[in-house]
Amino acid sequence: MQAQADAWRRAGRRIALVPTMGFLHAGHLSLVRLAREMADKVVVSIFVNPTQFGPGEDLEAYPRDLERDRRLLATEGVDTLFLPSAGEMYPEGYQTRVTLDRLPQHLCGLSRPVHFGGVATVVVKLIHIAKPHLAVFGEKDYQQLLVVRRMVRDLNLDVEIVGAPTVREADGLAMSSRNAYLAEGQRPAALTLSRALTQARQQVAAGERQAAVVIASAVSMIQSEAEAIIDYVKICDPETLEDVSVIDRPVRMALAVRVGRSRLIDNMALVPPNPPESAQGETP
Ligand code: AMP
Repeated sequence: MQAQADAWRRAGRRIALVPTMGFLHAGHLSLVRLAREMADKVVVSIFVNPTQFGPGEDLEAYPRDLERDRRLLATEGVDTLFLPSAGEMYPEGYQTRVTLDRLPQHLCGLSRPVHFGGVATVVVKLIHIAKPHLAVFGEKDYQQLLVVRRMVRDLNLDVEIVGAPTVREADGLAMSSRNAYLAEGQRPAALTLSRALTQARQQVAAGERQAAVVIASAVSMIQSEAEAIIDYVKICDPETLEDVSVIDRPVRMALAVRVGRSRLIDNMALVPPNPPESAQGETP
């Protein structure tokens, strides 16, 4: 992969990397298309990275279908499908890990303490292997996108990080490989995430500024489905992920909800209608 990347770079080609864990869906393919538009050569990696799964998480159960993934990528004009093994990525004696101090202290990092260190580590490795000019990540995993952007800045990695909007099913459910775990009958519970976010966006657009009020409405919507068990419902600063109590600027709402054996996440920007009066300057 490095030799290929070096050859492309010598020929003046612009390289894009789309890291994935496979079991591809239309969300992944939207990232590939964006990469295609922004670069000459597109590398898609499929690697179910063991170091980002904690004990008792779904590493073994994670859905895989390499033949289907290959077919989907073949129709997208991907130049290289990079499929490292766990043994190649973490050979005997491997002992280095990239960690961040603050971003993982929020949202998913609290219930998945090793997750973002594993993500940061594998992403920096993939960047050094595929040597891309840009790498595309989905806003679906908003905290992951922030962690990657922060790491790239902090470690002076010479790569542009591009964020791509969340692709949803027609009923609003954010596409995810983990949706494969949903049993029939769990769809209404799974749909509470996008419904709660859409309701919150409407409340804020209509002038509600109290995060606690918006969160309470979301919690009661989610709890109306007995199978939906909340991990967190947060309204936070879109850069630091610190809690926000008054929505007087664009913020991010993020949710994690367990439905059966799936842990689903989703997020959305909440944008207040007008800047607060204090920020409008002098009134005539
Ligand atoms: P994964 O295979 O779940 O690790 O995801 C690989 C990349 O695809 C990550 O950058 C995700 O944020 C992105 N992704 C996953 N689901 C979606 C979606 N529904 N819409 C857009 N991007 C997504």
